[in-house]
Amino acid sequence: MIDDKYDIVVVGGGPAGTMAGAAAAKAGAKTLILERDAVFGIPVRCAEGVAVFHLKRFFDIDEKYVAARLEGAVLHAPDGSEVPVASEDFGMILERTLFDRWLAENAARAGAALLTKSDVDGLINPNGRVEGVYFTRLNKRYKVKADVVIAADGVESRVARWAGIPTHLKPVDLESTYQYLVVGIDDDHNNIHIYLGNEIAPGGYVWVFPKGKGIANVGIGVLTKYCDGGTAFRKLNEFIANRYGKVSIIGEAAGGVPVARPLKNPVKDGFMITGDAARHCNPVSGGGIAAALIGGNAAGEVAAAAVAKGDITESALKVYLKRIDKDIVKYHRRTYRLKEGVIKLTDDMLNKTAHNVLKLPPEKRTIVNIFLRGLASQPKLAVDIIKAFI
Ligand SMILES: Cc1cc2nc3c(=O)[nH]c(=O)nc-3n(C[C@H](O)[C@H](O)[C@H](O)COP(=O)(O)OP(=O)(O)OC[C@H]3O[C@@H](n4cnc5c(N)ncnc54)[C@H](O)[C@@H]3O)c2cc1C
Repeated sequence: MIDDKYDIVVVGGGPAGTMAGAAAAKAGAKTLILERDAVFGIPVRCAEGVAVFHLKRFFDIDEKYVAARLEGAVLHAPDGSEVPVASEDFGMILERTLFDRWLAENAARAGAALLTKSDVDGLINPNGRVEGVYFTRLNKRYKVKADVVIAADGVESRVARWAGIPTHLKPVDLESTYQYLVVGIDDDHNNIHIYLGNEIAPGGYVWVFPKGKGIANVGIGVLTKYCDGGTAFRKLNEFIANRYGKVSIIGEAAGGVPVARPLKNPVKDGFMITGDAARHCNPVSGGGIAAALIGGNAAGEVAAAAVAKGDITESALKVYLKRIDKDIVKYHRRTYRLKEGVIKLTDDMLNKTAHNVLKLPPEKRTIVNIFLRGLASQPKLAVDIIKAFI
């Protein structure tokens, strides 16, 4: 049963969309989540790593969607130096097929209606004001009105552009990725491994994220500014051949990752943007699961409160920006400045950084310390970046 009107329609059923839908429904709003794919959680385009504390903010962790618990991370410099990184919480590798489906179940239990195979292909926006969506499901086109539409349609978001909010990504702000799900990676089950270097992955890195039983996500992100369409695929194959020789591949995925500043203004009257669509990924790591959970939850709660108050104007919905200011907006703006420095590091600088960092006691080898040490060789940049972290 599809109604003609909902309080809130969410476009996209990734973590941002299902979190938004669950939060809105929990707050009492009549909510519909529309997902283009046939099943929530499939296909997976993710290395599936997330810090435990981000999940714990919202739920008790259910082991059924945990592929592996991690003890740490190891950074590999271009000359092969290995730097174990210190942190109190390295987190876990998820099974996103199960995690995303579990999030969808949560939204359903909270009272949201969910529809798969539902491709949103237009907005109802007479006079530029968003009033609902058009979508196509099983060859039939539907028109559904909504007080608030939340765009959670991922990195390739079109919905925001239809609403008149530019989301175009510059080549310096988009990572092109390729990833294999590999069987037979037996070297280390407890740590994620990150391989840096301009030859290995220009403007990005190669990752090996273990999922247990010799299975790992082995992938690469390269900055679009430095490469052509085939670079990520080619470089990943080179890496695997050099490091592992022959491996068995049981899955593969490609996709974009926004490594940009968060959108300045992700709201309009009756309209909000969240998750990758709002450019909420961490600009250095490319991780976006945590921000999708945080931003999606905030968007859903703010939208539901605005509907309940009968004020869905842009200024009422802007509370959303306050809600995500510390965890996403300020944090990712600062991280963006770090990225601007990191992508300028030569292989020689990366090697020297690794050697310097290895002189530090293990507990001081945090990611931020490591990059700040690397950037110390570029005094002008370092001052700018250090200021960003104060
Ligand atoms: C190779 C790769 C590795 C990554 N590894 C990590 C990692 O290890 N850790 C991490 O934190 N992040 C990682 N990320 C990033 C992470 O996957 C995203 O940040 C996260 O999925 C964002 O969630 P989202 O809900 O905003 O978008 P998505 O998960 O992309 O969900 C958007 C959903 O919207 C649907 N949709 C799109 N358009 C429409 C439409 N018109 N109508 C209906 N539905 C629509 C899509 O089908 C999709 O299900 C990785 C990304 C890639 C590509």
